[in-house]
Amino acid sequence: MTDFPHLLTPLTLGPLTLRNRAVMGSMHTGLEDAPWHIDRLAAYFAERARGGTGLIITGGYAPNKRGWLKPLGSEMTTRMQAMRHRRVTAAVHAEGGAIAMQILHAGRYAYHPFSVSASAKQAPINPFKPSALSAKAVDATATDFAKSVALARKAGYDAVEIMGSEGYLINQFLAARTNERTDEWGGTAEKRMRFPVEVVRRARELVGDFPIIYRISLLDLVEDGQTWEETVELAHRLTDAGVTVLNTGIGWHEARVPTIITQVPQGAWRSVTARLKAAVSVPVCASNRISSPTTAEEILAAGEADLVSMARPLLADPEFVNKAAAGRADEINTCIACNQACLDHVFANKTASCLVNPRACHETKLVLGPVRRRESVAVVGAGPAGLSAAVSAAERGLAVTLFEQAGEIGGQFRLAMQVPGKEDFAETLRYFGRRLEVLGVDVRLGTRASAGQLDGFDHVIVATGVEPRMPEIEGIYHPKSVSYADVLSGRVVPGRRVAVIGAGGIGVDVSHFLTHDAGETQEDWMAHWGVGDPSLHRGGLMEKKPRHAVREVTLVQRKETPIGIGLGKTSGWAHRAVLKQSGVAQVSGATYDRIDDAGLHLVVGGQQRLLEVDHVVVCAGQESVRELYDTLEEQGRLIGGGVHLIGGADVAAELDAKRAIRQGTEVAAAL
Ligand code: NAP
Ligand code: SF4
Repeated sequence: MTDFPHLLTPLTLGPLTLRNRAVMGSMHTGLEDAPWHIDRLAAYFAERARGGTGLIITGGYAPNKRGWLKPLGSEMTTRMQAMRHRRVTAAVHAEGGAIAMQILHAGRYAYHPFSVSASAKQAPINPFKPSALSAKAVDATATDFAKSVALARKAGYDAVEIMGSEGYLINQFLAARTNERTDEWGGTAEKRMRFPVEVVRRARELVGDFPIIYRISLLDLVEDGQTWEETVELAHRLTDAGVTVLNTGIGWHEARVPTIITQVPQGAWRSVTARLKAAVSVPVCASNRISSPTTAEEILAAGEADLVSMARPLLADPEFVNKAAAGRADEINTCIACNQACLDHVFANKTASCLVNPRACHETKLVLGPVRRRESVAVVGAGPAGLSAAVSAAERGLAVTLFEQAGEIGGQFRLAMQVPGKEDFAETLRYFGRRLEVLGVDVRLGTRASAGQLDGFDHVIVATGVEPRMPEIEGIYHPKSVSYADVLSGRVVPGRRVAVIGAGGIGVDVSHFLTHDAGETQEDWMAHWGVGDPSLHRGGLMEKKPRHAVREVTLVQRKETPIGIGLGKTSGWAHRAVLKQSGVAQVSGATYDRIDDAGLHLVVGGQQRLLEVDHVVVCAGQESVRELYDTLEEQGRLIGGGVHLIGGADVAAELDAKRAIRQGTEVAAAL
């Protein structure tokens, strides 16, 4: 008996039988781009295959050089490259898994000066303007796709996925937004569809019954995108041309609607997937914002899809499927859709990893091997850093005691999960809590560890975290002035008019928290972002419904720069948009004068200003809590190297959970 019977049912796709319906969707990690990383890539995928994943799809490989995502980016164009990939496919097959290569032509999203597209129209998210492909070059590009598919088969891949969504080249041919051609590759919807259909037809001709997955864009979420009728018509033509499975994609990269970040409701896109499923005869794969086996099972059980794709959830936990199958779903390390270590890294040209699983893409380097002797470890502080250290050390077989002065684990994460749209952060605490239990860690809640209590431990890890900084502003301890911790923890419920001091990640989050209407439903969320029925609105985009803000908030910072520019690359724009939609007033270049009964007094551009508010919420960063570490230092206990300082207690500046969790895992790996 299993809770996930549909998810765990095999599926046959021509010559390929998948052991279950869980697909690790394509995600570029950066490891694809360098031949010397091939063994790291193999180890990364092998770990996911060992964890029970039914089908893995690689990051995108270009069918020719113009299609590179970036200079010298990943490609599948030669026999030599195919032979090199045998290391990847063999590693996955050795673990009983199956793997497909994704073929992706970046088109106008290519980050290099040689980019091409259907028309010479620059993408709003790329400084490089593409040149328009000639009719002959379009034809040659379709053949290049087919050749790459054949090479992928030679490399030992079990299938390919042709990337036809997210706004890459194929999408650029499909939409009038980007295809202004008047030749046989554009001008009417039918002619715009010709390119993807030719790609599939030529690939099918070359590879016989080899499974071909096509990722189709269900909602473009951009102006002048495809209509629903066009999408369904395309699906039929692709099926006739020989597609085996239709995977689904939501939104182009340039769309200004969030599609995968935390604030997007779980399973937000399942109804549109179900509509495609009802219209076609081939298996359909659901994707985007599905991060638990429960949601995956619901989608499959409801007949809305035949497969479920989860890219980031499998970055977060390579054992996702095995845990679900073994009745250990409560031990899954859930992806919290933060993008901080995966997509933000890739867009910054760094190797992807995962905030909640720093071993992702570092499988060969960050190894939690078993210890030879069961030494004792005291971890002080159960915030993200301490939790990660405690669980990682216990996984290695060390005897761990975890001290936490609060009555619950979580530290700053417990505050973060109060922010609207960040509810998933609670999953990380569920994961750590359960792992502590399973691993038999001695957890002492409500215990402020003294230096004396740490005598006798072989190792001491100090992860005492941070406290909110209260800057030196006159009146900072006035009754109107409260810290973000007071507000997010619910100790203080601010009045209707609020000023927020500090516009870093927390200031922005707190402004959202303060203005958010708790009665907002999933339908409201869609309406606020202008997501409509694609049969009624081209590309699924309609006019946005204004948000109702429950408070008047003014967000203030000292810097002259626009507010929120330091936020994550792939999610910051959405946070800034929410502030705007919620009417949050923004003040940059301020000097704080004082806080008094009247409110917050500022100087902006040489002018005195008074913000007449009921409360001032201080979000001015953090300071390390290091009392314990300092005492240990005074007692000479740091000599000998048995004491480690990690997380915010180590460096408070720019503290984030990504660094905290990584440091916790690294320190445990080195014990
Ligand atoms: P932060 O990003 O360092 O921002 C604190 C802000 O407070 C600064 O931008 C600074 O702006 C202001 N400040 C600092 N010292 C001050 C002082 N003495 N007086 C007045 N203002 C002062 O810190 P945070 O917002 O607390 O966030 C902590 C960490 O969590 C960061 O690494 C952040 O990236 C991460 N986080 C990220 C997100 C997200 O990406 N959505 C959300 C939450 C947290 P001025 O100097 O310009 O006034
Ligand atoms: Fe998920 Fe964040 Fe990890 Fe990316 S970094 S896989 S979004 S938890």
